[in-house]
Amino acid sequence: MNVGIDIGGTFVKFAFEENGSIKTEKILIKDYIEKKDIEGFLNEVLFILKDKNIKKLGIAVAGLLNKSKGYVEISPNIKPIEKYPIVDFFRENLKAEIYIENDANAAALGEYIYGNGKNSNILITLTLGTGLGSGAVINGKLLSGVNGVAMELGHTTVEKNGWRCHCGRNGCLESYVSSYGLERIYYMLTDKKIISSEIVSLANEGNTKALEAFEIFNDYLSTGLMNITHIFNPDKIILSGGIVEHYPILVKMAYSKLKEKAFPVSIEDLDIDISKLGEYSGAYGALALTKGGES
Ligand SMILES: [Zn+2]
Repeated sequence: MNVGIDIGGTFVKFAFEENGSIKTEKILIKDYIEKKDIEGFLNEVLFILKDKNIKKLGIAVAGLLNKSKGYVEISPNIKPIEKYPIVDFFRENLKAEIYIENDANAAALGEYIYGNGKNSNILITLTLGTGLGSGAVINGKLLSGVNGVAMELGHTTVEKNGWRCHCGRNGCLESYVSSYGLERIYYMLTDKKIISSEIVSLANEGNTKALEAFEIFNDYLSTGLMNITHIFNPDKIILSGGIVEHYPILVKMAYSKLKEKAFPVSIEDLDIDISKLGEYSGAYGALALTKGGES
């Protein structure tokens, strides 16, 4: 069978394909990552895979890849995986063909092949999670970049002297449009430090400050979307991640704010949608890698 795995800082998610049907599963690896025990978690993944007669394995992983060396060069959220030869590890242990891609790029491919991005000509995906991931599938092809590091939209500047981003720069889109961005906005308004899922719950209950935080959050999100539409003129943008999953009205808010900002013609044929694959879009995308992007 063919399998896609999505390695994140907290979970490894799997998409198994056999006889035309796909099953998903996830395992918690947070403890291994905290203990910097990369081999511990890779062996656990291997244990799940090794009796399955795997022909092709697709790997989606959070971070900037070095594809020619078969490892992750920089991964702020999975530090210990940096420069570990994961492609060789799986190739040697599974005797399978291995494909690797950045998780956000893989997620875009997953949405294109299996999700709400089917038949889109220019598809952009944005994942609002711990960070802000993004990917593009253009005329059926993943835009990976010459070095595999294209589509770092989260690290494009929206405030020249803005907030510090996890990448070390200032004013990146991610420093506002992510879970930590939302937490900062809420803190700025209230002097209270609470986690993003609590802010989402408060907003859903109609709490004024939480709603205000989302207005500011959406102002940055829509600026990011305007930049995207002015560069790509897409027909589909898919938003995913915990924030939008639990606060889906954000999709409508973002579209109406984008209308105020973008060239009207650039959004004439644009549809903004929520992800159908949810947290498994990266695993589905990793699976899609094993078929060269075709379902
Ligand atoms: Zn950044």
